[in-house]
Amino acid sequence: MPFSLAPGATVGVLGGGQLGRMLALAAARLGLKTHIYTNEPDSPAFDVCSARTIAGYEDAAALAEFADNVDVVTYEFENVPARAAAILTEHCLVRPGPEALAVCQDRLAEKEFLGANRIATAPYMRVDDAGSLARAVAQVGRPSILKTRRFGYDGKGQVLVREGADLAVTFRSLGGAPAILEGVVPFAKEISVVAARGQRGEFAAYDVCENRHENHILKFTRAPALLAPESAVEAVRIAKAIADALDYVGVLAVEMFVVEEAGAPPRLIVNEIAPRVHNSGHWTLDGALTSQFEQHIRAIAGWPLGATNRHGAHVEMWNLIGEEVLAFEQILREPGASLHLYGKAEARPGRKMGHVTRIAAKAEG
Ligand code: AMP
Repeated sequence: MPFSLAPGATVGVLGGGQLGRMLALAAARLGLKTHIYTNEPDSPAFDVCSARTIAGYEDAAALAEFADNVDVVTYEFENVPARAAAILTEHCLVRPGPEALAVCQDRLAEKEFLGANRIATAPYMRVDDAGSLARAVAQVGRPSILKTRRFGYDGKGQVLVREGADLAVTFRSLGGAPAILEGVVPFAKEISVVAARGQRGEFAAYDVCENRHENHILKFTRAPALLAPESAVEAVRIAKAIADALDYVGVLAVEMFVVEEAGAPPRLIVNEIAPRVHNSGHWTLDGALTSQFEQHIRAIAGWPLGATNRHGAHVEMWNLIGEEVLAFEQILREPGASLHLYGKAEARPGRKMGHVTRIAAKAEG
């Protein structure tokens, strides 16, 4: 029996950051309430939700009570502990399902999943101690990147293994956590596919977008990516294959590297899968017929997916990081700029405070 939320129902969201906030805003527009569950007492999503629970992700009683009081559970981050996901699924429908979480929160499981589905990744090896790091370096070579299997984001939990680096010191620098060693991919650009899959397998992708990072943090996204049309089709095919293989329900983002070699067609290599709405999809709030946030709510509600068509010739999204947010008045004065602030009081370095979207008009004629 397909599931369908009734208008007025409550969506439970694990995590109360800006993604939870923008999900709650989209849910409200569709007549749904949002209950935020987070361990952070000061969360941006609290301003715009109907109910909140502040408790740890290990608190079985609080998780069960939360799940009993909502009609579907989703999340804005992939590091939901497996035990928490199991408790929630006993009490409520969780979308995307726990399998997507298990695959996407562990870099090794993710690489193995991609390999099993014949999707290209960077060369990699599992690393559990300094000895296995030495064997991995012998195989993968240098420079390469040691990444913790879990809890890495925005470049955290990663270290470059250069020529001459002491491997025991390198392994300890990540706290001795289980890791993988990845070969450095000589990419020409980074792209992502943000797409949704519904409960009946229906699939809708946004334009492939192109991303630039600064200090490992997403700085800029352009949609569509400047890419050969065949590569864009291939990128969407890969994202759909991933969503189908996970029997995924909701919005996901697949980050990829584009590798260009003389005399060969560009190759796409998957870096990471985010089982959630994604920063590289923020442009859809102003730049597409249905935003990624509304799309995620539609998908998990069992409702029809919306059209993903882009407005304008192209769309740019700039993150406002740290003190860049202080320019908000100047951005507000700019015709055609759409400003989104996340309600965070303190503009700490590296903190995502908001973003701005600019839509380039379609050429006349
Ligand atoms: P990640 O946390 O895996 O998304 O990595 C953050 C950023 O580091 C990516 O967006 C890339 O810019 C860079 N990066 C990660 N892995 C690789 C790799 N294997 N080769 C080259 N650059 C990488």
